[in-house]
Amino acid sequence: MLLDILDNLPRLRMSSNQFKMILWILKQCNVANVPSYSTFRKMQTHMRALCGSEPKSYTSSVGNQFFVNDIRETIARDFANPEVAKHLQFYPETTTGPISEVWQAARWKEYKPSELTPMYVRGLRQFYIDEVASLENGVFVIPIAWYKIDGVLHANAVDVTPATTGWTIGLDVRTIPAAEFALNYHDILERVGDNIAWAGQRSSISILLSAHNSDHCTVPEMPNPLRQLAEGDDLYVVMVPIWADDVSGNKSKQYNKHINMYLANANLPGQLLQQEYFVRFVSTSPHATSPEQFSAIKEQIEATRTKPIPCYNAETRRQCRVILRVPSLPADNPQQSEEASHMGGNANCGCRRCKAGGPHELTESDEGYHSMHYAGIPRLAAETKKTLEEQIRMAMYGVEAPISRLQTATGVKDKVAQYWIDILLQKSREIKANNPSRTADSIAAELEAWLLEQPGDKVNPLLDISGLDPNRDTPVEILHTILLGIIKYVWYILHSGWSDAQRDLFVIRLQSTDIDGLTIPPIRSAYMMQYRNGLIGKHFKTLMQTMVFHMHDLVSPELFTLVKAVSALGALLWVHKIDDMTKYGSDLTILIGNVLDAFGDQDPAKILLKIKLHLLPHIVDDAVRFGPPIRNSTEVFECFNAIFRLCSILSNHQAPSRDIALKFASMDRVKHMLSRGFWQVNGDWVCAGPSVRAVLKGMPIIQRHLGWVPPRTIVPGQMRLAAKSKAHLMRWKDTQASSSDNTGFNSVRWRSAISVTAQSGDICRENSWVFARDSEITIGRICELLVPETRSEGIPSGVVTLERFSVLEVLHPDYGMPVLRRPADQCRSTVLATYNHKDVMFRFSVQHDCRLVKCSPTALRRIVQERQETSRTEQLLEHGDDEHFVINMAALHNATLLRRNLPIALTTPRALYLDRKTHHYQVAVGLRTSQDLKRARTQAKRQATLKAKRTGDNVHGSDEGSEPDIESEEEEDEAEAQGVPRQRKRRRVQRK
Ligand SMILES: [Zn+2]
Ligand SMILES: [Zn+2]
Repeated sequence: MLLDILDNLPRLRMSSNQFKMILWILKQCNVANVPSYSTFRKMQTHMRALCGSEPKSYTSSVGNQFFVNDIRETIARDFANPEVAKHLQFYPETTTGPISEVWQAARWKEYKPSELTPMYVRGLRQFYIDEVASLENGVFVIPIAWYKIDGVLHANAVDVTPATTGWTIGLDVRTIPAAEFALNYHDILERVGDNIAWAGQRSSISILLSAHNSDHCTVPEMPNPLRQLAEGDDLYVVMVPIWADDVSGNKSKQYNKHINMYLANANLPGQLLQQEYFVRFVSTSPHATSPEQFSAIKEQIEATRTKPIPCYNAETRRQCRVILRVPSLPADNPQQSEEASHMGGNANCGCRRCKAGGPHELTESDEGYHSMHYAGIPRLAAETKKTLEEQIRMAMYGVEAPISRLQTATGVKDKVAQYWIDILLQKSREIKANNPSRTADSIAAELEAWLLEQPGDKVNPLLDISGLDPNRDTPVEILHTILLGIIKYVWYILHSGWSDAQRDLFVIRLQSTDIDGLTIPPIRSAYMMQYRNGLIGKHFKTLMQTMVFHMHDLVSPELFTLVKAVSALGALLWVHKIDDMTKYGSDLTILIGNVLDAFGDQDPAKILLKIKLHLLPHIVDDAVRFGPPIRNSTEVFECFNAIFRLCSILSNHQAPSRDIALKFASMDRVKHMLSRGFWQVNGDWVCAGPSVRAVLKGMPIIQRHLGWVPPRTIVPGQMRLAAKSKAHLMRWKDTQASSSDNTGFNSVRWRSAISVTAQSGDICRENSWVFARDSEITIGRICELLVPETRSEGIPSGVVTLERFSVLEVLHPDYGMPVLRRPADQCRSTVLATYNHKDVMFRFSVQHDCRLVKCSPTALRRIVQERQETSRTEQLLEHGDDEHFVINMAALHNATLLRRNLPIALTTPRALYLDRKTHHYQVAVGLRTSQDLKRARTQAKRQATLKAKRTGDNVHGSDEGSEPDIESEEEEDEAEAQGVPRQRKRRRVQRK
């Protein structure tokens, strides 16, 4: 068993040679029962048959062969795994508190109640919607929707009045706690006889629709057909967002393209979904494209609607059935465009979400330019599908030009449809050539009949998943759109405009950033500047939060405004909780508007060219529908790619799709067993013995390798002491605290501590900036942490001494952020204040106001190499005073808490331009002039090239006027920033 674990650690993939060596060593050490390599593999196959799954073979409509780990079995394992099952949420929630989860946002509520989990279990009884039930007080009702209110399950229900003339259904919908439901439909049937006589007409139409939309009310079909579908088991609905992208299967720079699919179980809290443990591998293939793989997945998902997955719920210890739905498609922008049957960011209509854009005459007009700053008329999947069908119909007539025109005009294009369009065009031309007298209509009719007979999807399979609209449900992803998008643009503008001396100064300043309270890795600014064109997400995350403080004397006022705008926006996008959706939406709208306007002031053409800028306004809608934007981040999937790569390198390379799928199935199985997951043996549900289960619980090394983080219990006020040898004991009067608090804790001696845990769970140290609360809220910098040597009556078990600072009423004139100053009176006792160690609320980021104080880079620090101080030194900023500080509102950590505890006047964002329309109109004038000039120049250049080519006897003077491909937008970014690791660049080229 231990060997099995060793062979299945995602982060520690071993080759068969290494593994054979371990077996050999074990044998040499005379360990009992060491299996041979082949016996061991046989044992694994046996285990897989027990509780793992076998990858299923698929052949796509174009003939590609690949393997898929059945997602139904994956979800069934989630239910049978107690570590997962206990966290599953099944009902949408209405909350008065902050919104942090997707089920609290609008997306789940867009489904009809019958498409969500339609029942609730109390004791042994299942209460389905659209079935009559009775409450504890004897009243009859029909629940029409289950949902939670602040965590407590309720039903929307209508009253039912029994009468001899027939039972009638009321019209008023009221809310009833689920706990009040007593008898279900079957109980009632038993009491009143076989049949309930209804006064109205029987109908299967959902009562919800009739109750809301008309005054006459039809009776729903009883029992609920879903109850029969579940065959007596509980019935749940699980949301599975599916992620797709192309990933290299190599670690080296040689690109080895695979299209991968992973999924997440969105019924789990977002915090958990950021752990690799909860990412599920679905399929990979070096050949099959994402629509082909989606087609296989669609088949599995749609099948659950008529044949729900039988599962064992480890939490309720009951059998259940599960229906799957796809609420969203997380991915990077080019992939999402592809999933939405859209041409991609470089098309005339470059937005997959809306119809914004068009020919330059339109987008460069006053109104056109203005409208590019907002989300336009939304695209709808049904419409997209119609356009594709129209393209296919046109292809039957054998003329290509109108199809391309339609594609350019609408931005709708699709790999699957294009496959058929190309075939149809060719066939149509062939028929015409063989038989010139045939009319176009008769050829089209023949081809239409032919197409109908062809198996497989004719258009993007995602357009056909019920309840999913790929145009709407491809939420803007912040890793690619913000960090690798706008922050990268800004970074490029900055460093490319600087001289070497300016770059050096920036490096010194950035290195001097106080990173306490930022939860970022230590900054290596020289490295970042050296590889300024090859930075990755984490670097941009650091820059976003810190660079605004280092810009003075280095940039123009317009550029500084831009840096400020993107920093302010970032802080709002990475929040885990949204306190007030309305305010959040309006704040976000202002900040996004500022970013766009600042970009427009910098270079108006960017607004038209950079689709990532246009996508920003769509984030507001996404937040309402999916909750905090960070929930749509694909970072964890990108991390999961590392595991995939390890599997790929060690795969047999003969059947990579099957081999890798098998390995993931095997890892999932071990994960399942270690987590006390259940599997079926002869009809009984069993799980691993206690010694196996203890492995996960008790061994952090195994947890880490499985990507699982056990829930951390926060103990506010917990103090960590220095090693006994280092800490010396002090008398109270020798402590700094004694100067503010003379009540005297003299009876004991005190020892200083290294850190204290805040109420938020932050670990705060000396010099950390914190909010603390006893009778009122105070802001300060920790200057001392004390723990008494012995516990005694009247003495707190820990003391935190703060250097108090107060927040000025006006914002910083340059940064627009709150300013911290020492209290006006210079009396030391008001500056220092002691707090009970449990009073520390949370830590936050503060930066010295180097701009105002004009700190200079005169400090020197010895460089540490190989853990030893060297004789080499690096320059750092020497802060001019210890008085002037700015609260870093660009910080991501605790952004919500910070805003909650500062006066609202200091945190409400302000619009850069109050009258944006007028401003855009003005900018558009300049834009037209510059764009005309640019076009003239390109034209001249092109003609010159043509001429040169002609004279050089080269007749291949083809014009690259074909429409841009999906990838070009990324490619263009890449080209501009010239900065991506070569690997990515190659990837794009290969894609084409
Ligand atoms: Zn749009
Ligand atoms: Zn300074």
